[in-house]
Amino acid sequence: MNGSIAILRRVRLAVFAASALSALAHPAAAQDKSACNDASVLGVQRVVEIDAKGGPLLGNLQYKEIDFLEPGEVVLTFDDGPSRQTTEAVLAALAEHCTKATFFMVGRMALAEPDMVRKIDALGHTVGSHTWSHANQGSLSAANAEREIELGVSAITAALGKPIAPFFRFPYLSDPRRSINYLEGRDIGVFSIDVDSYDFRTRNGAVMKQNVLSQLQKKGKGIILFHDIQRSTAAGIADLLDELKRRKFKVVHMIPKAPLATVAAYDAIAQKDLARRKVQTANNPLASRSMTWPVETGAGSGPAPVTVARPPSQQLPWKPAAGTAAAPPARNADAAAPQAARNATPASRAERPAWKREELPWQEQMWNHYR
Ligand SMILES: [Zn+2]
Repeated sequence: MNGSIAILRRVRLAVFAASALSALAHPAAAQDKSACNDASVLGVQRVVEIDAKGGPLLGNLQYKEIDFLEPGEVVLTFDDGPSRQTTEAVLAALAEHCTKATFFMVGRMALAEPDMVRKIDALGHTVGSHTWSHANQGSLSAANAEREIELGVSAITAALGKPIAPFFRFPYLSDPRRSINYLEGRDIGVFSIDVDSYDFRTRNGAVMKQNVLSQLQKKGKGIILFHDIQRSTAAGIADLLDELKRRKFKVVHMIPKAPLATVAAYDAIAQKDLARRKVQTANNPLASRSMTWPVETGAGSGPAPVTVARPPSQQLPWKPAAGTAAAPPARNADAAAPQAARNATPASRAERPAWKREELPWQEQMWNHYR
């Protein structure tokens, strides 16, 4: 990070800290979020509640069935995290603008940083899933594709300690029909994108910012893809939010109509992994740092959310993929866990390579054929 960015970040963080302290000094102000009523911040224009029943498909790069954004509206989404080194800067920038985003997390990343997962939720952002290990669904067997989805959901749920949103994004936006069918049966919404920050192609925050602005200029609105593990996003997101405000864009926050139930067989695997990591952390106290964060006090005083759902004609009956479960997976029921889950042997250490920081960031580089 160069000096000017470091200085800028210190100033920004100081501003955020000052407003937080001010809110603490005036409890009434903290409750009505008057700091967020500042006309100079983005805030949240409106909250859209997504009914994930039947697995709605959103994001115009790949899907055309639902478009809930008005001209000038954007949705902020962050994939692949959390990662303490970079996600903190993203959270600070969002807080400075009193605005909310959706984080599509990778399961093993969530288990590695459970306190970050809880912090993101506590700040009022929406937590969705992005598979267990970021494998390309198009290259997996039906059983492994299902395992990637379900273990991801269970891992993030275990890290958070409560249900997550039934919101899913495919790694590399690679969305085989079989996996879409599975997600439909699980009542999990699939989120593609409209605008790509291309933050994985650069370490320069200004380049990332320009990528977003130039596409928004053409499209006028959209779901924006960022990666909170990417340095360019950590470095450039604050300036980008400032510019979005200057250009009068409005942020829409997506929330789920109902939480996502997990599958018990995968919960057991995720809990075992989480427990193992806790033991490792206890044996190495220096690896753990304490952290505090403001607790979200509610949905705020804005207008009631509108609900977006899959059009009735699009709600297809759930169909099992060839060679997988013969019925929709039961929620939280060992006896009725999907056959693939019972057959899988994912607890074997060989199948779960230890998470290594140096493996990151992986590159989102294979989906240009969608253009
Ligand atoms: Zn990703």
